[in-house]
Amino acid sequence: NRRVVLAERPVGLPDENTLRLEEADLPTPKDGEMLLRTEFLSIDPYMRGRMNDAKSYAEPVKIGEVMTGQVVAEVVSSNLDGFAVGDRVLAGSGWQDYAISDGTEVVNLGASPSNPSWALGILGMPGYTAYAGLLKIGEPKPGETVVVAAASGPVGATVGQIAKIKGCRAVGIAGGADKCAHVVNNLGFDVCIDHNADDFAEQLKAACPDGIDVYFDNVGGKVLYGVLPLLNPFARMPICGVVAWYNLTGLPEGPDFGPLIMSTILRMKVKVQGFIIFDNFPISTYKEFVQDMTGWLSEGKVQYKEQVVDGIENAPQALNDVLLGNSFGKVVVKVAQ
Ligand code: NDP
Repeated sequence: NRRVVLAERPVGLPDENTLRLEEADLPTPKDGEMLLRTEFLSIDPYMRGRMNDAKSYAEPVKIGEVMTGQVVAEVVSSNLDGFAVGDRVLAGSGWQDYAISDGTEVVNLGASPSNPSWALGILGMPGYTAYAGLLKIGEPKPGETVVVAAASGPVGATVGQIAKIKGCRAVGIAGGADKCAHVVNNLGFDVCIDHNADDFAEQLKAACPDGIDVYFDNVGGKVLYGVLPLLNPFARMPICGVVAWYNLTGLPEGPDFGPLIMSTILRMKVKVQGFIIFDNFPISTYKEFVQDMTGWLSEGKVQYKEQVVDGIENAPQALNDVLLGNSFGKVVVKVAQ
């Protein structure tokens, strides 16, 4: 029974001392419990935040504790009503081969779900984040321009595709030519711009001839600074993530963008709203998401790209790859071989 624990709190990007792979005894479920065997582990940018001992929307992982994370697991033995041996479940049991669960906040996916790992992506937390953030905060209207970065990742890819379904112009931003080609050719965005280009801001301006009505912020950083001058009056900015800054150890060097940010919000009457997906929206929004997304997937209106990394020992590197933009699509680690 292998597990990955937080060995020390990283300063900047996690390194080889941050996480430790350990062996642990195989736990035995008591009455009212079940034993889960992890099949897929989700790798998500928020995991970097959980390594910090800082005030946030969730408790940090403690030193020596198993790294937090959502998994799809198989029920190996069960003393719990509603969960039978062989069922697949969505659980928050973290980076480990096996876990005991009392069923709290565990979703039963049934004995043979199609694409079980999608519960960690397009049909799960990232897909719902894109759906609720864009539609409930971004409120896109037909003909408007929606801009999103990390456009080949699970949240951004979904934001742009929903924007297209709603009749908007979808402008993606991604790192590199391959990702940009995927975003346009496979996901159907109108255009995608490489944020590594020297003339990124000019390219973004050319891609948004009518300005920007919705900027769904996944990254912050220079993408945000390129977006600000293009915002239209009454633009909306759902603030979903600022991954460009997750590894900061202090305030970045360079010009102070505070005045540009605040005066743009003021002059353009921009609605800026941060959100945390698991407690921000009513359950009715989640039900709408499941219904709409299931339909769009079966109709082929939404495409989904997953990158499967083999082996729990490779999970730490997989997290850094996601943070640095070296991943392509939704990253899941295949834990059970
Ligand atoms: P991704 O798998 O898309 O990974 C993040 C991507 O961000 C990288 O792959 C990289 O893509 C891009 N990126 C990293 N650094 C920079 C930078 N400096 N400038 C521009 N782009 C950069 O992540 P997700 O789709 O899982 O998540 C997207 C965002 O949404 C994250 O910020 C995440 O924390 C947030 N989130 C927030 C939730 C909430 O409840 N608020 C819930 C879920 C996610 P590229 O190579 O294309 O640059």
